[in-house]
Amino acid sequence: MSTSFDPTSLHTELFIDGAWQQATSSAAFPVENPATNEIIAHVADGGPADAALAIEAAGRAQTEWSKSTPRERADILRRAFELVIANTDRLAAIMTAEMGKPLAEARGEVAYGADMLRWFSEEAVRIGGDCATSVDGNTRIMITKEPIGPCVLVTPWNFPLAMGARKIAPAVAAGCTMVFKPAALTPLTSLALVEIFREAGLPDGVLNVVTTSKASSVVDPWMSKGIARKVSFTGSTEVGKTLLRQAADNVMRSSMELGGNAPFIVLADANIEKAVEGALKAKMRNMGEACTAANRFFVHRSVVEEFSEKFAKTISELQVGNGVLAGTDVGPLIDRKGLEKVESLVADAVSKGARVLTGGSRPEGPGYFYSPTVLVDVALDSELMSTEIFGPVAAITPFDSEDEVLRLANDTEWGLVGYLFTESLDKGMQFSAELEVGMVGLNTGLVSNPAAPFGGVKQSGLGREGGKVGIEEFLEYKYTALAV
Ligand code: NAD
Repeated sequence: MSTSFDPTSLHTELFIDGAWQQATSSAAFPVENPATNEIIAHVADGGPADAALAIEAAGRAQTEWSKSTPRERADILRRAFELVIANTDRLAAIMTAEMGKPLAEARGEVAYGADMLRWFSEEAVRIGGDCATSVDGNTRIMITKEPIGPCVLVTPWNFPLAMGARKIAPAVAAGCTMVFKPAALTPLTSLALVEIFREAGLPDGVLNVVTTSKASSVVDPWMSKGIARKVSFTGSTEVGKTLLRQAADNVMRSSMELGGNAPFIVLADANIEKAVEGALKAKMRNMGEACTAANRFFVHRSVVEEFSEKFAKTISELQVGNGVLAGTDVGPLIDRKGLEKVESLVADAVSKGARVLTGGSRPEGPGYFYSPTVLVDVALDSELMSTEIFGPVAAITPFDSEDEVLRLANDTEWGLVGYLFTESLDKGMQFSAELEVGMVGLNTGLVSNPAAPFGGVKQSGLGREGGKVGIEEFLEYKYTALAV
C-alpha cells in the first residue's frame, strides 16, 4: 500500500472543453500541506475569462450530451467508479497532503465517493416517467424527464473527493453538463477526479473545472451568464445565501448543502459504551471538520459523569499527528483561521464556566494541530453552541427532562442532522419525529450513505444528495398532451 504520490503526476491546470490548460492570466496560487506548512503545488488561478470559456463549453456540449443514452452514461460512471477504486492509494495520499485527514480516513472517503459513482451508474438507467389520463378522458398525459441543463457545482475543502463525486455523479447520470469550482484549499483531489472522468470517457465539454483563489470572480459569471440552469452548492450557509440570491435573478434550480449544528443526545437509558463509540465517530471523524459533526452534546444528568469520563478517556488516547504516519488518528485543522477559531471558541466556553476534561490546547511545532478536547458544564450562551466548531472539541451540557432536551436540540437556525442514543425504540421514534433535522442517527454516529437522501432543513439547505431522489435534483419534468 503506497502512502505517497508522485508530485510531478499532479494535474494543476484548468480543464475546459476536454483540455488541460493554464489560466488565461497565467496566474497560479499555492496549495499548502496543513500538517507541515509546506507548499505541495501551485494551481492555475482562473478568473472571469476562464469562467466564460468553461460555461460556454458546458452550454455547447449540453445538446449532444442530452441525447446520450442512459446506458452510455451509466457505463462512464461505472468506469469512473472502477478507476477511483484502482487509484485509492494515490487519491487518498493527495487528499491527506492537501487536507490533512489521516490516510485511513482518506481511503474511507475515496470508498464513499466511489460508491456515489456506482450508485448513480445504477440510477442512470432507471430514470422513469409517468402516464395518466386527463380528468375528462380526452387527453393522454405523457410525462418524461429531461436533464435540467448546464449546472454550476461548487464544493468545500473538508471532503474534497466525496463532495465533488456527490454532485458530478448525479449530474452525469441525468445527462447534465457542468462547470465545477472546487475549494481553493484542496483543488488537487478534485483535479485528480476530473482526470479520472476523462479517462472513463466523459465527452469533451461535459465537465469543465476552473480552480481559483477568488471564488466570486469565477462563480459570479457562471451564475449571471444565463447559460447555467442549476446551481449545486456545498459549503457555508453564508455563501449559500449569496448563491441563492444570484440564482433568484436567473430563476435557477438550487441545491444547497449548508452548515449544521448537530445535537448529540444521550438519554438516561442509553447504552453508554455505544454512545461513546458513536460520539467518537460523530465528533472526531475528519478532525471534527464536518457539517455532520456533533456540535452540542446534551447528556442526561444521571449519566453525564459516566459518559464524559469514558469519552474523555477514549479521546485522550487518540494519536494526533501528520496523517501519513502510521497510527495517526487525528490530523491537523485545515488552516490558521480554522485553528484560531477553535481556540477562541474554547476560550469563550471556559470563560463562561466550562471545565476542560482533556485537551484544550495546541501542540508545539509546525502544522495547524489542536488536541482532541472534551469540555463539560458548557453554558448554553457559549459561542460554540450557536457556531459550527469545525474542530476536535466536544462540548457537553447536562439536561434533566426529555422535553427540555428536545427544545434545546431544536433551538438553532440549522437542521442538518441529530444524533440520539437510547435503548427505547419508542423514544427513538418519538425524537426522530420531533427533531427538526433532515437526518437522524439513532444509536449511530454516522449517517452518510449513497443509498440515503443526504441533506438538511431550516438553514442547513435545500434538496438532497444521494438515494433515489438524488438524481431528481438534476432532472426536469416535461409533459406532453396527446389528444385521443
Ligand atoms: P465556504 O462556504 O467558505 O466555501 C465553500 C465553497 O464556496 C468553496 O469552493 C469556496 O471557494 C466557495 N465560495 C466562497 N465564497 C464564494 C462566493 N462569494 N461565491 C461563490 N463561491 C464561493 O465553506 P468551506 O469553509 O469551504 O466549507 C465549510 C462549510 O461547508 C461548513 O459550513 C460546512 O458545514 C459546510 N458543509 C456542508 C456539507 C453538507 O453536505 N451540508 C458538507 C460539507 C461541508
